[in-house]
Amino acid sequence: MYTQIAERKVNQLKASGQYREFVTINRLNHNYPMALVNKKAEHPVVVWCSNDYLGMSQHPVVLEAMHKAIELYGAGSGGSRNIGGSHHYYEELEASLAEWHGKESALVFPTGYGSNDATLQCLARIFPDSIVFSDELNHASIINGIVSSKTEKAVFKHNDVAHLEQLLAAQHPDRPKIIVFESVYSMDGDIAPIREIAALAKKYNALTFLDEVHAIGMYGPRGAGIAADLGVAGEIDFIQGTMAKGIGVIGGYITASAPLIDSVRSFASGFIFTTSLPPAIVAACSVSVAHLKQSDSERSALHAKTALLRAALAEAGIPVMKSSETHILPVLVGEAQKCKNAARRLLDKHGIYLQPINSPTVPVGTERFRVNVTPNHTEAHIRSLVEGLSEVFEYYEIRHLALQPT
Ligand code: PMP
Repeated sequence: MYTQIAERKVNQLKASGQYREFVTINRLNHNYPMALVNKKAEHPVVVWCSNDYLGMSQHPVVLEAMHKAIELYGAGSGGSRNIGGSHHYYEELEASLAEWHGKESALVFPTGYGSNDATLQCLARIFPDSIVFSDELNHASIINGIVSSKTEKAVFKHNDVAHLEQLLAAQHPDRPKIIVFESVYSMDGDIAPIREIAALAKKYNALTFLDEVHAIGMYGPRGAGIAADLGVAGEIDFIQGTMAKGIGVIGGYITASAPLIDSVRSFASGFIFTTSLPPAIVAACSVSVAHLKQSDSERSALHAKTALLRAALAEAGIPVMKSSETHILPVLVGEAQKCKNAARRLLDKHGIYLQPINSPTVPVGTERFRVNVTPNHTEAHIRSLVEGLSEVFEYYEIRHLALQPT
């Protein structure tokens, strides 16, 4: 019976066009951004939707650190942080992350998802009777953390400071308040009004939790993110990040004052009861962060290539969604099936891998491609992407959809 119910559910999803199919994609080392779609394919394709924004997953210093740590300490960590899994690379990485964000302490988790989920779940328990103010476009890991905390939640309109203030003002001044938002929103590529939100938090005595997952490594003078770029990192209580995107490896983290971090370390079950990351992973993250602190070349190349791609798309009449102010260039398609078909044709005919972004990741009717150029994409890659998109948009008559106002 259970199998049939599950099957029916999946069939409903398929009928709605929202069923996810994975492309088997083997990204080739030393060959970024090229990948083989399956192991036996003769021709590599160009990847245009990777979150390995700076190509750090293949950087020689990162690979070397990983190899060395494997030789010294093997493959796995052997336990949770509390029971034998706190190897010395953790100390180095957490100190380095805290320093990066100008905070007293940091805590590393196996994933960015887990760091949001576990922290937000436990904050509501540390601050009884609190209310969480959450941007309506916050990531699933944030939403899940808040929902599992069973605390009250007030959702404010995306990046709408006036709405947030209205919601804050409606609460008793003494009630604990937590504002949760992101710096760069991953599907629209826009930036939060961090300074204004920090000012509101001060006015209403609220705690702030900022997800910088899509900014880490790419923005700010030493790559510490948008809050650092704006000079307001000191006014945010928690800065959260991932090591799976700009840093190029895997893992998530939070940084904050020492007492706040110690409280999460002590109470977050999603931190306590899971195996810690392998030494080689943490060593690689540490070296990648150290590199990005002192090297501007990857991020300036990313921004230069983003400008080139923006200009090339504009010239070809392919609009990037107006919201985008960052390296994330969303191109609206507006229909799930067309988005899937277009992705298939881009892959088969043009050797371009762009994953369709469909509901529920984005609202129905705003299905899109989320294009990410990286320092390693060449001008020839950019030209062939624009040619491929133009051909496919003509073929499926998408151009008029993409022109809809967003
Ligand atoms: N926060 C945001 C805004 C994200 O987009 C993501 C993942 N895409 C995460 C958190 C989770 O990070 P990770 O992939 O490291 O688990």
